[in-house]
Amino acid sequence: MLKLFIAAISVGLIYWLWLKKKQIFSSRNNKIDPFITTIEAIEIQTFLDWNTSQYCLECDGMRYGKQFKQKKAPDLPHEAGCRCEATKLFYTSDDVFQGTSPVLTHKSALGDLSTKDALLLKNILLKIRTSTGKGGFSDFLEQFEINNFSENIRSRAISLVKHAFDAEQSKE
Ligand SMILES: [Zn+2]
Repeated sequence: MLKLFIAAISVGLIYWLWLKKKQIFSSRNNKIDPFITTIEAIEIQTFLDWNTSQYCLECDGMRYGKQFKQKKAPDLPHEAGCRCEATKLFYTSDDVFQGTSPVLTHKSALGDLSTKDALLLKNILLKIRTSTGKGGFSDFLEQFEINNFSENIRSRAISLVKHAFDAEQSKE
């Protein structure tokens, strides 16, 4: 009789421990959840071309929304000739923290570019707009890792950049 009693107590105890463990784990999960939040925002994507203005280039990738420094997206077009687009996006807090974007392609005169190609092209175009130094095109290009352009667009990207460079030189 005593043996049966001890067995019953043990079973009860094990069951109780199992319940406790379950509770601890579920409360832990509840604590993690709030850190992964979804954030709604508007992101400006600039159409990259040889004649894209400096202002539009600088606005590329800007984010607007309740959780951002700038709350309200500007009216588009920014100025005459602007081909920027405003896209509504849903970021995770991780995207915002890491500076990554859920946008995977970028519109340009060369077609849809990968984020990596678009960033390099934008940086070169911006440098053309902001640098005042005279000099040849090949000297100018040396400061960039041109080989980082994807192979299928590299030569077209270089001629687009050359076009922008020549146009800027002839302005002065
Ligand atoms: Zn614009």
